Amino acid sequence: MADTPSHVPLVDPFSRVIEDLRISITDRCNFRCTYCMPEEGMNWLPREQVMSFEEIEHLARIFVERYGVRSIRLTGGEPTVRAHLPVLVRKLSVLRNDHGPVDLAMTTNGATMRLLAERLREAGLRRINISLDTLQRDKFFQMTRRDELESVLDGIEASKAAGFDPVKINAVVERGVNDDEIVDLATFGRDRGVEVRFIEFMPLDAEGHWMNDKVVGQDEIVETINAVYPIEQMPARGAAPADRFRYLDGGGTVGVIPTVTKPFCGDCDRVRLTAEGDFRTCLFATKEFDLLGALRGGETDDEIAARIEAAVATKWAGHQINQVNFIRPGKSMSQIGG
Ligand code: SAM
Ligand code: SF4
Repeated sequence: MADTPSHVPLVDPFSRVIEDLRISITDRCNFRCTYCMPEEGMNWLPREQVMSFEEIEHLARIFVERYGVRSIRLTGGEPTVRAHLPVLVRKLSVLRNDHGPVDLAMTTNGATMRLLAERLREAGLRRINISLDTLQRDKFFQMTRRDELESVLDGIEASKAAGFDPVKINAVVERGVNDDEIVDLATFGRDRGVEVRFIEFMPLDAEGHWMNDKVVGQDEIVETINAVYPIEQMPARGAAPADRFRYLDGGGTVGVIPTVTKPFCGDCDRVRLTAEGDFRTCLFATKEFDLLGALRGGETDDEIAARIEAAVATKWAGHQINQVNFIRPGKSMSQIGG
């Protein structure tokens, strides 16, 4: 007889099984990307409101051990600005359930990965996504308000050398800003042996500059690449957010995350914890559930689990970006954890 799993699946009202948890570990950042933050004036969370490593571990353990969550992605803000990050990675990387050890990943701007890559890898981080929207130094400065292109390129090489598998590149495409670099970025990915994932610009920038006509949609991205490097779509992505394509000449793979033009909500298996321990069932959710308050208030794991289940019962069928009744969340990307 097969062993009975020790966890119970966390299932939403649309029968989607929740298996991926994104944890924002800080709302702070050393960059100021225009599509994410203003140059000045972000109101940072007071440090005492941000989850400690022990609190992150405690809540993550409930998701992994009780609910069978398979993967955790650390994000922010910029996760690498958190001091002693390898200590947190070590705490999380030992979590496991019947599926095996948790698959621990991180999304970073890469600027300090040259210094951190090896220690993070040793601590048990497995996969990494590094954001890189342009290969031109001036434009990099324009988009991130920091002159750090070289550090990010170094960080990508250091991450490959440290053995992260895979290293992926996230590139947000904004019309009139970097849409002329789609082929250059694809070439970069082919040359360096990393998968570039082009992300459609989403209405989550803190300054509210997003407009539909600034979005470069998946079809246009694919046609632009295909005109230079013929590609074919790979089999269905399951719950992963990217549609993946293979270069017909064997040059690797490339992805597109088409949140706006081809929402993939029907297969979504993700939930999120913000840096202040609020639980969200969608990037675009307008309601949060305070798990850190419950933990600090002395609730038992059963009581916290009841809050998680009540929250998951409210998970939407899908976001409303393309509908007239779309309401932007009160928080921006860096405050939610992208
Ligand atoms: N600081 C890290 C980084 O930039 O990779 C992690 C946090 S960042 C919020 C996570 C991802 O969200 C990055 O790949 C970033 O490019 C993307 N992002 C930020 N604002 C966005 C927006 N308005 N639309 C689409 N993607 C966005
Ligand atoms: Fe910072 Fe990432 Fe937002 Fe850029 S996208 S400002 S690196 S959190």
